[in-house]
Amino acid sequence: MSNVTNLLPVQQWGFAFERPVLISGPCGVESEVQMHTLAKDVAPLGVHILRGGIWKPRTRPESFQGIGSDGLKWLKEAAHANGMLATTEVATPHHVEEALDAGIDILWVGARTTVNPFLVQEIADTLVGTNIPVFIKNPINPELELWIGAIERIQKAGIQRIAAIHRGFSSFEKSKYRNVPNWTIPIELKRRIPEISLLCDPSHICGTRELIASVAQTALDLNYDGLMIESHPDPKHALSDQQQQLTPGALAELLRILVIRQPNVDDVIFNTLLEELRYKIDQIDNELLDTMAERMELAREIGRYKKENNMTILQVERWNEILRTRLKYGSDKELTQEFVSKLYELIHQESIFQQTSVMNSAEDLRI
Ligand code: PEP
Ligand code: MN
Repeated sequence: MSNVTNLLPVQQWGFAFERPVLISGPCGVESEVQMHTLAKDVAPLGVHILRGGIWKPRTRPESFQGIGSDGLKWLKEAAHANGMLATTEVATPHHVEEALDAGIDILWVGARTTVNPFLVQEIADTLVGTNIPVFIKNPINPELELWIGAIERIQKAGIQRIAAIHRGFSSFEKSKYRNVPNWTIPIELKRRIPEISLLCDPSHICGTRELIASVAQTALDLNYDGLMIESHPDPKHALSDQQQQLTPGALAELLRILVIRQPNVDDVIFNTLLEELRYKIDQIDNELLDTMAERMELAREIGRYKKENNMTILQVERWNEILRTRLKYGSDKELTQEFVSKLYELIHQESIFQQTSVMNSAEDLRI
């Protein structure tokens, strides 16, 4: 992945963006007036790139499917007339050709397309010989390799200006989010491809306006390079995603409250303090692992004892008792229930594994 060029600093783009990059615009382009009204209102807020879906991947066939190619001109003209770039979603080679012909500046691949390697490959093949930047949203399912695979396909087509957009993941579990963020996945993406720019789309993660500020702030705190936020002159009457689009006024308020932090601070006292705290954390982590090793040694001892007495490994009452008491102890120490229960599931699983390996040592298994 070494020839993926980081979008930031964005000199390569020929435009001087300030960090974080701001992308905003409606879920779907609906009319020329809508695009010009919105562009005029969001450009002064510092939005660099105007977005708008032209072909909308909708779950149900009776939903608004997007205005189609007529909208490309409205999107581009509204963006350029207000000093912004224009971006839209492409899901087929035909979309790519139309968007390129219309002079759209940046393309993005949507979550429903990233899941499909055939389609991504077709899009990549159509991009060969162009030099257009491409944003790639995460696939709808929480699978990092699929996301990386799509990035690699586009990159192999010779596209260097690539950014990944984190828009959350579908989940069967009930959640306050429309698409659960699963922050560990984009963080792992960034660890695997450090040179890639990472953008967050809090609108599609949240699904409702109220949650957008906290998700956008988390993304900035995690050092994301930019945000894609849906906005509409009149969200209540939008033809799609009414609940999550912001009016220009609400977008202005959001941008006012977001805190932009620096990844590195040039302050000797602060850095020394940070080093000290990190040193303490390193020590505690060593102690944690020593303690875990001790605990697992005890588990093996119990395993040997149970084996001698021909007793089963799993005793549900004991496991319930451990969970109950540890959750209580943890909550007294201000640890969340979710953290303690996940931690104990892992510890219990490892204990069982350790006991099983003692009970069925290689010798026992020999016939
Ligand atoms: C969109 O950005 O409007 C969109 C359809 O997003 P996603 O691909 O993340 O669902
Ligand atoms: Mn949308």
